[in-house]
Formats: sequence, C-alpha cells, structure tokens
Amino acid sequence: MKYLNNRLKIEKINVDNIAKMFGTPSYCYSYSQLKKNILDFQKSFKSFSPLVCFSVKSNSNINLIKEIQKFGLGADVVSKGELMLALKAGINPKKIVFSGVGKTIEELNYAIDENILLINAESKSEIKEIEKIANKKKKKVKIGIRLNPNTDAKTLNQISTGKKENKFGVNNKTFVEIVKYCKNSKNIDLKCLSVHIGSQILDHKPYQKMLKVLEKIINKINYHFEFIDLGGGMGIPYDNKHKKLSYKNYNFAIKKFLKKNNSKIIFEPGRAIVGNTGTLIAKIIYIKKSGSKNFIILDAAMNDLMRPALYGATHKILPSKKRGNVIKKTYEFVGPICESTDKFVTLKKFQNLKEKDIVVICDVGAYGMSLSSNYNIRPKPVELLIKGSKIKIIKKRQKHKDLM
Ligand code: PLP
Repeated sequence: MKYLNNRLKIEKINVDNIAKMFGTPSYCYSYSQLKKNILDFQKSFKSFSPLVCFSVKSNSNINLIKEIQKFGLGADVVSKGELMLALKAGINPKKIVFSGVGKTIEELNYAIDENILLINAESKSEIKEIEKIANKKKKKVKIGIRLNPNTDAKTLNQISTGKKENKFGVNNKTFVEIVKYCKNSKNIDLKCLSVHIGSQILDHKPYQKMLKVLEKIINKINYHFEFIDLGGGMGIPYDNKHKKLSYKNYNFAIKKFLKKNNSKIIFEPGRAIVGNTGTLIAKIIYIKKSGSKNFIILDAAMNDLMRPALYGATHKILPSKKRGNVIKKTYEFVGPICESTDKFVTLKKFQNLKEKDIVVICDVGAYGMSLSSNYNIRPKPVELLIKGSKIKIIKKRQKHKDLM
C-alpha cells in the first residue's frame, strides 16, 4: 500500500474506488505481497528445502489457498473442514499435515482415507484411536508426535502454545513412552517429531531454545525421525516499532541443528505468509465526542476483525485520503457492536476525520476473516484479491437473507 497524490492505493487501485465499487467493510488482499512473502520465505530456508505447509486456520479463503498452492506449498490443517478445504483447493495430500489436540474418530478416519502426509498426534489416547482405525483398515498410518518443549515463545499469553501449562503436545516423559509404544506397533508408522511453540514470535531465541530441547530428546531416545515439523509462529510487525522475525537467524539455528540430525524440515507458517497481505476497508458511520474522547464509529466491528477484542492486538489504521496535518486529538476507533471490547485502537494523534471518511485497518490477512463471525447478525464482508489494476471477488459479501 502507498499514497499517491495523497490517495491510498492497494497495488494500482485507489482504496476509495474499492469502497465505492464493493461497499464496506471489505477485506482486500494484495497478490504481489502474497507472492513476495512466499518467495522470500522459500529463499530464506532454501539450503535445506523444507516442506512449507500453509496454516489454513490463519486464512481459509479457498481462492487464496489456490493461489498459495501454485507456489508448491502444502497445508497444515486442524479440522476435517480445513482438510476438505485444502484438498478442494488442490493441495497435494502428500503435503498435508493434520494437527490438533482433539481430533475426533470421524476426523481421523477421513484423514487416513485421504492418505495425507502426517497426522500429528497430541496424546497417548489419540495414538491408540489411530491404531484402532489403522488395524481395522489394515493400513499403515504415518504419524508425528507433538512434543511440548516447555519453551516460552515470549509472545502474547493467549497465543503461546509451547509451555508445560498449555494443553498442546506431550511432555518429555510421555514422548519417550509413545516412541517406545510406536516402535512395537504394526500399523503405526512414526515418522515425525512436531512442535509449535506459539504465534507472532519476533525473536529467534525461543526457537533456538526449542531446537536444543529437540536435540536433547532425540539423543535420548536414539530414534531417527524422517521429518521434524517445527510448526509456524514466525511473527510480523504490526507497528513501526517492531521488525519481523529474522529468517536469517532462524535459518542459522536450524542448519546447526541439522548437522547432527538429518531430517526433512516441515514448517507451518500462517501469519508470515498472509498477515501483511490483507487490509480491511471501513467507513466512518458517526463521530461522537464524549469528554476528551472522540469515538470514531466504523462500519467494521469485532465480528469482522476479532484480534483486538480477543487478544488486545493492535493494528495500524490509515486514512484513504491524506488531509492536512496530523493533529493531537484522542480518537478511539470502535465498531457498532454492543460490547465495550468492540474497539480497534485508541490514538492520541491522527489527521482530522469526518463522518463518511474511508479508513483502512492494516495487516489483517491472518486471523482476520478466518476468526470472523455473524455476531449481532452481521453479514460477513466481501473478500477481494487485488493484482495490479485488477480486482477479483474471492468471496461474496454475505446478505442478511443468508442469515435468516
Ligand atoms: N501450526 C500450529 C499447530 C498452530 O497451532 C498454528 C497457529 O496457531 C500455526 C501452525 C500457525 O501459526 P502462525 O500463523 O503464527 O504461523
């Protein structure tokens, strides 16, 4: 996105024109940013050719996944629905990994029938369930075990998954027991050690620590894993104060790990692939002054973009038209929903705003639309893919009649 003659553009199209043509709120994705993110990711780790499985939960738009698939990516899924979607988008089942603490028997059956690359199991009970199905089908099933490395990802508590108090994975002791169990199982083929310590990780040091934990446990059990699945979590900057995770440092740490452990690396990035590709275009319905605050009431709300209400996450907001200088004024950007948490951000400085102005909420490509809901019976926004001067509707705006 950039300003040209004080008008904000996504690729070659004015944001105001998009708002006029498609209404608001609207999700827009930039194809060139998507391509850049994928190529940058692949290039940064190319020395060990990892299998990159896009984390479908971060953005489940089938048309976007079709574009991602064209770059050779696989998928990381966490439900039967996501697995069906990934297959429908054309992702090769041999590039699909299935994670999650609570896969049902129906979901396991489906994944086994579709011959996906790996089911990453997260408990002894799950492995026994997989084994029962495998025996019934007389089929060898490839699995991974998710280790909980008890590593602090130094991210928001709500998106931290690798500490011992989190529900994810199994501890070292159980891990060792499971490996032993799998060695003696006829139809369980243990191929992978998987981890995922959290999301929005900006510092490579937690990953370094996690790799040390893996090294230690692999040495202890003396078992060769064909795959090491390092999960996702690579963070992106949501403001000007932070920088994205250094792929260079992470790559260096992994290469060191691989010198002693010769396995194929799998990554499951979501946010790093799509986070900064998406924007949410919204219109100011009303401006309400209350004390020293000016509430900017948008037509986008927490049902459209849940991250601020769910984790206190913040997103940059930009005006579609630059108008005069930045002034000191407290602006609180909120939505129309009947919840006080329906609030995007409070700013102490911004340009002067008027009712009906268009603003853009930035970096909403990950966990934006995929976390949206119909709360307050609000139809979901349209999703658009922008490629140069072309706009393609990749999901239609819901209508009220769809919700009745
Ligand atoms: N893999 C697993 C198992 C996850 O739980 C998640 C997100 O929660 C991801 C991958 C993707 O994380 P991110 O979008 O931060 O890369």
